[in-house]
Amino acid sequence: MIKNADYQALDTVAEKIINGLELTDDNLREFLSLNEEEDIQKLHYVARKVRDHFFGNRVFLYSFVYFSTYCKNNCAFCYYNRCNKIQRYRLDLDEIRRLAQAIKKESIHMVDLTMGEDPYFHNYPERFIDVVKTVKEETGLPIMISPGVMDDNTLNRLHESGANFLALYQETHDKELYRKLRVGQSFEERKHAREFARNNGYCVEDGILTGVGNDIDSTIISLRGMQKGNPDMVRVMTFVPQEGTPLELVSQESSLSELKIISVLRLMFPDKLIPASLDLEGIDGMVHRLNAGANVVTSIISSDSSLEGVVNYDRELEERDRDSRSVIKRLRSMGMEPASQDDFNRIIEKQQVTPILVPVAAL
Ligand code: SF4
Repeated sequence: MIKNADYQALDTVAEKIINGLELTDDNLREFLSLNEEEDIQKLHYVARKVRDHFFGNRVFLYSFVYFSTYCKNNCAFCYYNRCNKIQRYRLDLDEIRRLAQAIKKESIHMVDLTMGEDPYFHNYPERFIDVVKTVKEETGLPIMISPGVMDDNTLNRLHESGANFLALYQETHDKELYRKLRVGQSFEERKHAREFARNNGYCVEDGILTGVGNDIDSTIISLRGMQKGNPDMVRVMTFVPQEGTPLELVSQESSLSELKIISVLRLMFPDKLIPASLDLEGIDGMVHRLNAGANVVTSIISSDSSLEGVVNYDRELEERDRDSRSVIKRLRSMGMEPASQDDFNRIIEKQQVTPILVPVAAL
């Protein structure tokens, strides 16, 4: 489909995808196996064509607030896992309110409220509900929550309090690999929380890691697993070994595989939100990810913020350039523009009314 194709043939591939062509596993295998630079650029070209058809040159921006780095879990890949002897913080409600007031002045479309599975909030969900209410009250913006697995009742209460989006990454839909990554956590409970949220008024985001024990077959299992959940946003991130974790000494792959998977996600989920995270390679990495077919910039943090990211490529750097002004300046140099808030609200309103269809046999 891509190898040996000229640009006219690539335009035809993009058109077929726009008109509803579904990729087979053989197509996915072909795309994920590409390793010549020229072929990979062709894959990105088709992905951009498809993205531009649905979104033009408009990009969405999410602000990232990591308000508690405490966690009761022990994910093998994560810097914040409970066994890692690191300095942690938890913001109180006044600090979160002040942060929300600052965010209101930034040009962003949604606030992402992230925490580890912190027992302070998980055992007393009303504390988290207060956080959501406060941020909604101060910003009036759509809110994404990334709190880990929460029960159905709490998810409903959070939604009533102003949460619009649930981000809950499976990391992999390959169950054997899941056991090694999300040590001691239920695969099904995680999947259920996303499904429940999707059927009860939320938009949902699923995500996978690459470069950590996933070969092409395992990646295809994950891509198909994500597809079954009908998510509104789909993410892939390159595994980065983190100091003090069991996977600290695993060597890090380049972002090549992530960029290919972003393009494949665009071809599988043509009209969905796909992020270019600033958390891995900063603003230069954002450009590569947008050129691979992404249409959302995530992990925007004000230049004067001392809060954590998740992977934190800039943990050791004195200056960060992940504020919305730097992002918008770079977007414009690429011929792209921030979308309007109305554009974003329309997308989440439309997606919130499309429930997951449960196959009859499963009823
Ligand atoms: S990935 Fe999330 S749940 Fe797992 S250890 Fe890190 S913060 Fe906790």
